[in-house]
Amino acid sequence: MNPALAGLSREGLSLKGAQAWAQALGLDRLDAQLLLLQVMGRSEGDRAWLLAHDTDPMNPAQAAGFEHLCRRRLTGEPVAYLLGRKEFWGLDLTVDARVLVPRPDTETLVAWALEVLETCGGRRVLDLGTGSGAIALALAHARPGLQVEAVDQSAEALAVARANGERLGLAVTWRQASWLDGAPAGLDLIVSNPPYIAAQDPHLAALTHEPLAALASGEDGLDDLRTIVAAAPGHLVAGGWLLLEHGWDQAESVRALLAQAGFEGVGSRHDLGGHARCSGGRWPGKTAGAAGSGAAGPRAEG
Ligand code: GLN
Repeated sequence: MNPALAGLSREGLSLKGAQAWAQALGLDRLDAQLLLLQVMGRSEGDRAWLLAHDTDPMNPAQAAGFEHLCRRRLTGEPVAYLLGRKEFWGLDLTVDARVLVPRPDTETLVAWALEVLETCGGRRVLDLGTGSGAIALALAHARPGLQVEAVDQSAEALAVARANGERLGLAVTWRQASWLDGAPAGLDLIVSNPPYIAAQDPHLAALTHEPLAALASGEDGLDDLRTIVAAAPGHLVAGGWLLLEHGWDQAESVRALLAQAGFEGVGSRHDLGGHARCSGGRWPGKTAGAAGSGAAGPRAEG
């Protein structure tokens, strides 16, 4: 019988049998293993344990729990939601459908932010659209002396972020706000992984389990990036940086936005997949640096 139709046999089922059933149903091997470890009460790092115990029997409750998770996974629900957690920058974050699942690509932004802070010696950081708190918490963890504030428009997302901060014992100030509304002046660094997918992008169809407000941003995906670039200069010290994550094909547009707004040292950084995934620039502190000022063109780097 087609395994998609057949339920998982609950009698005398071995761990190996459960994995074979899940893979026949269409799950990735790794996903099946992670879900199996979850129902067996083992940690994600215990894949070797699974191999060593593949003939061990599962009890009926474990088999039922595994089948339930597998069926949810087949509807496209991210593994991170099914496990209730996701590792980011070495931190174990709690995640659920209230927040975007932190992506490894975003670690590029964290690495760049830490370099910038090292170079400029700044301490005041703001993370916009923090979601699970991933970026803010990674920075606070990596540099304990930083003063990190993080905002999100979603009260639900902030609840997830705040709980992550408390559980990890990391001091971040959480605030509900839209982008830079109500943000202080004098910041050394503003970072953001805003929504940046075009509203009509077919890619969104594969992401229906995650909050749309954290993913899509207008016709070309750049609406929120434009808002942030326009507002950031009013909140940065002279020599402060704005670093932004964006879509794999948006680097040129985002660099142009930054240059037009008067940012200097504008450049991009690549993610693990080799895409220019983040762009940023340094605010020179000129009050006349507004968009379309026609002032001496900012230098474009890398
Ligand atoms: N990088 C995510 C994706 O394309 C989107 C994240 C975002 O919009 N900030 O799956």
